[in-house]
Amino acid sequence: MPKLKLSFKPFTLELKHTFTVSVFSRTTTPIILTEIEYDGLIGYGEASMPVYLGETQESIINFLSKVDLSKYDDVFNLENILKDIDLIENGNTAAKASIDIAMHDIVGKILNQPWYKIWGIDLKNIPYTSFTIGIDDKSMIEKKVKEAGDFKILKVKLGRDNDKDIIQTIREITDVPLIVDINQGWKDKELALEMINWLKGKKVLLVEQPLPKGQIDDTAWLTEKSPLPIIADESVQRFSDIIKIKDAFSGINIKLMKCTGMHEAYKMINLAKELNLKIMLGCMTETSCGISAASHLSPLADWVDLDGALLIKNDIFKGAGVINGKIFPAASPGIGVEKIYNS
Ligand code: MG
Repeated sequence: MPKLKLSFKPFTLELKHTFTVSVFSRTTTPIILTEIEYDGLIGYGEASMPVYLGETQESIINFLSKVDLSKYDDVFNLENILKDIDLIENGNTAAKASIDIAMHDIVGKILNQPWYKIWGIDLKNIPYTSFTIGIDDKSMIEKKVKEAGDFKILKVKLGRDNDKDIIQTIREITDVPLIVDINQGWKDKELALEMINWLKGKKVLLVEQPLPKGQIDDTAWLTEKSPLPIIADESVQRFSDIIKIKDAFSGINIKLMKCTGMHEAYKMINLAKELNLKIMLGCMTETSCGISAASHLSPLADWVDLDGALLIKNDIFKGAGVINGKIFPAASPGIGVEKIYNS
């Protein structure tokens, strides 16, 4: 009987531009690439390290070394396999996602179907994906906005002392709707409300994580008074977090690297819908592997922010593609990716 076999290696993504948000700046992103082999097929996965979750290439290699997939006879039993892996150790969400994604890829390949079909999801409801503009000086912002050409929504990182300048600069160039991400950068709820009221007049659609994740009561106050939806990102990682923050936010940003992958993301979407929370589907800086995996869920989201692979110079996969501002999964089996050169 064939056996599942896991392998993994580190890789470094090079960003097209230095990426700055309210709390840090960087030019590369460390990732781990995983492969699961089964009966001549290969499933691809990826772990990208969100800085605020504290994972490193070393911690991920350490975690993956503890995983033994060869003991599972029923490869279709994702529920059990992924639950076992989750129980190996707390945290390690990106490491767990790298297995989850490769398992979905291999199972889809065995079934010879893409995941949106296995889930029965209709691709005609895909929202536009936003394209991210990091914090920068005026000339770089102008350059990035021009590069974003075909995108119908831009995502802007705010949370320092020049928020209004950044928005004014963008508004001099384009009138496309904006999503703003504060990355916990505002500290005062009254000032936050004042800014949101100002942003409302600038064609902004939503505000992501305006206040630090510890300020949950202040966020609830803000959400109640805000004319724009307030979306949790740093405040919500996994399924079990949703209940804790459901009254403080209008919606949640789900990312595979935060929530351990496609299996849990699907469950989170269903719970969020039951609770009348809006859904944003986000990403880290990732190759087309992680982005393609997430893209199968994009028709279920209210807003999609899956631009991670577009921000890097050395994508080693080809998969989900942008058509007229919307990101579509490929129709090929599994997560729908092809390795285009060797890492
Ligand atoms: Mg965010």
